[in-house]
Amino acid sequence: MSLHDQTKLLIPGPIKMSPEVIGALGQQSVSHTCPTFTDSFRDSLTKLRRVYGADSTKGIPLIISGSGTLGFDLVGSNLIDSKKDNVLVLSTGFFSDEFHEAISQYYVEDASKQVTRLGAPNAGATVSIDEIERELGSKQYDLIVMTHVDTSTGVLLDVESIANLVHKVSPDTLIAVDTVCSLGCETIEFDKWGLDICISASQKAIGAPPGLSLGMVSENALKKHESLSSKSGSYYTSFTKWLPILRSFESGKSAYFATPPVQMIDSLRIALTQILEYSFDNQTGIHARIAKHKQTSDNFKTAVVEQMKQELVSGSLNNSAHGLTAIYVKDPPSVIQYMAKHGYTITGGIHKDIKSKYIRVGHMGISACDDSLNDVSGCLQTLSEALKQ
Ligand SMILES: *Cc1c(COP(=O)(O)O)cnc(C)c1O
Repeated sequence: MSLHDQTKLLIPGPIKMSPEVIGALGQQSVSHTCPTFTDSFRDSLTKLRRVYGADSTKGIPLIISGSGTLGFDLVGSNLIDSKKDNVLVLSTGFFSDEFHEAISQYYVEDASKQVTRLGAPNAGATVSIDEIERELGSKQYDLIVMTHVDTSTGVLLDVESIANLVHKVSPDTLIAVDTVCSLGCETIEFDKWGLDICISASQKAIGAPPGLSLGMVSENALKKHESLSSKSGSYYTSFTKWLPILRSFESGKSAYFATPPVQMIDSLRIALTQILEYSFDNQTGIHARIAKHKQTSDNFKTAVVEQMKQELVSGSLNNSAHGLTAIYVKDPPSVIQYMAKHGYTITGGIHKDIKSKYIRVGHMGISACDDSLNDVSGCLQTLSEALKQ
């Protein structure tokens, strides 16, 4: 029995979960130090590395209770010298601006001197590589922050090219990426691209319930953390507290700082296992999962543009994320209402400049990857009816 009636949940997170993930949530509590839970935590950490493309034993994966937003504080309180560090924030929408606000208001002494926001020229655009290069050349930045997929616009940032640029022109700058809406549905090569910290959450393309803050931290970032002289940290977000715990669980031994949510971590383990065992187009694993999201997304967007004659907020397909579609429509509330009447939960806009002009449809996880559910194809059909109303 469900308390809620949203059978076809197609918002950009939380997303529909698989029956196996749901099953893990209905289990009796166990001790957070028992061997079977310790093994579940160990397996989740190891699998999270694989989803990030961080196969080596270097750095440390993060699984901490909290939501994606906690990641802003993990970056701010562990990797920024509040007295002197300079931070460059690339903004492609609402979530980039939240990250910018968190750093400016809580983690530096003088935001007007220490934090620069380099915004996209308009909603739905990215920040150009040339502009980033110019800005990196203008002063020494200690940290660059970007949002892989800004869920407010459905814009996909070319993190690989930006990371290459940073390594070339400003090699001492640490790279932080918000991968909340990209982990599990977009290519992320943590090691190959030389990223320093990625933050994420359990309820988007990973397909677990909301409530876990996920991430991956590089060796370089760990060194920076150790060398910080003035940080505006907090007790709960401190790497000094968390790293020994995560290292211990990853090596198969339990440890205690704050009680881990046992059912949630069990469910995350199953969600990550399903991602790594997913097969599509002669591949198995995270790359198959990403390829399937791209197919679902490209089909969805092509139908919206070519058959329904609507415009994407992100403009072209190359600029677009694969876990959601943001679409300009004439009357968003009536479209959303029509969809809801037919069982589809979609949502409206949140970018400050264009809020009332568009809708957003999420297509991540099982809705995008299990064709037998018909969630996305049914949504497309119903959307075309809604637009004719
Ligand atoms: C959802 C989201 C967040 C915030 O995550 P919460 O789990 O809601 O705290 C941050 N960044 C991006 C890109 C998101 O999509």
